[in-house]
Amino acid sequence: MDMPKYDYLIVGSGLFGATFAYRANKIGKKCLVIDKRPHLGGNVYCENIEGINVHKYGAHIFHTSNKQVWELVNSIVEFNRYTNSPVANYKGKLFNLPFNMNTFYQMWGVTTPAAAQAKIDEQKAEAVAALNGHKPENLEEQALTLVGKDIFEKLIKEYTEKQWGRDCKDLPAFIINRLPVRMVFDNNYFNDKYQGIPVGGYNKLIEGLLSGVECLTGVDFFAEYRQTWRNTAKKLVYTGALDEYFDYKLGKLDWRTVSFKTRIEDTPNYQGNAVVNYTSHDKPYTRVIEHKHFEMFGQAVYECPKTVISEEYSTEYKDGMEPYYPVNNERNNRLAEDYRKLAQAEKDVLFGGRLGQYKYYDMAPIIEQVLNIKDF
Ligand code: FAD
Ligand code: UDP
Repeated sequence: MDMPKYDYLIVGSGLFGATFAYRANKIGKKCLVIDKRPHLGGNVYCENIEGINVHKYGAHIFHTSNKQVWELVNSIVEFNRYTNSPVANYKGKLFNLPFNMNTFYQMWGVTTPAAAQAKIDEQKAEAVAALNGHKPENLEEQALTLVGKDIFEKLIKEYTEKQWGRDCKDLPAFIINRLPVRMVFDNNYFNDKYQGIPVGGYNKLIEGLLSGVECLTGVDFFAEYRQTWRNTAKKLVYTGALDEYFDYKLGKLDWRTVSFKTRIEDTPNYQGNAVVNYTSHDKPYTRVIEHKHFEMFGQAVYECPKTVISEEYSTEYKDGMEPYYPVNNERNNRLAEDYRKLAQAEKDVLFGGRLGQYKYYDMAPIIEQVLNIKDF
């Protein structure tokens, strides 16, 4: 048999596949990247509409404290100074997020950290007493003992119910652990050292990572390479769905999904911010994204006469939809673990990325994982 032409066949051109190809290519390994979608980039792909980069698979904000990751992405494309600072709209009244001195001022009129703390303590006293020394056991108890009644009712309860389709009492406490509470006037949603959006959009990052690498779009691994990939490449990097690789033989893994209604508005500035969360049930969507604000600041907003907005809806997952978030319940955790055991036994195959590992990862940790691979 002839030697395969490629060192690696990489299934999936998202950040995992693209970063892997970038590293392999740098050390002279020959890669072929395939993706079943009609474009490269996986979920960070942007579609240009009216001169605006529209985040087709959901708003993506890059943030990390890892200097090596930040330097790598900036060596490919410069990142802008976008700082995520969503605003919450509760029945027409606006509040800054994450919960910080601005929010507390808007909620109660308090102007000092001491006054805000006193108000929070008063607000959470009843819930703390009800716990009677026990740890919070669900999201409602966690929220009520963290920030108290008003914030829970106006900024957490209904948003969370819309997002998860369940009562806050039936959700685990850890879901809101990552929401910061700050006694300073700081609307930055993330605690990371570095944050931004690639200048010119995420496609520039993907194009840079895949520069000089052979890529094919509209090619499904299962339709075209499943049986024959060893004739094409010595090794396989697989970033598609873990259960699909094994023909779902142990059962199907569940996913949570979101859907978007995207439209052009004939105004240069629709909501004045990239992200507005709708925290009450009177609007069916969880948030509205105005994409231009990720990359246009100040006067530049008005130099682009139109705007593109996406309403985001939490949606029950069905076959054929985009698999976005793994479902971390007992059944799925156990099933994924069983599939991972099968994956470990696959010779010459690396399972990577959020689909291939059935784990939610932000972008930076995905890149970090690839940077940590020693053996190419
Ligand atoms: P993907 O980007 O999904 O790439 C996998 C690729 O494999 C896809 O292009 C797919 O078409 C292809 N593929 C699958 N099966 C096959 C097959 N059989 N044959 C060929 N190709 C195949 N992270 C952040 O850091 N900040 C954010 O703000 C953020 N927002 C997010 C919002 C949403 C709604 C979601 C779902 C995720 C968000 N993330 C965010 C996470 C981020 O999207 C992921 O970290 C990143 O996309 C993972 O890259 P990946 O390569 O693993 O997967
Ligand atoms: N959350 C909330 N109100 C908000 C934003 C978030 O109650 O305005 C809660 C909600 O339960 C959500 C969790 O905090 O699931 C985590 O939110 P985050 O924005 O970190 O995650 P994402 O919505 O991006 O998955």
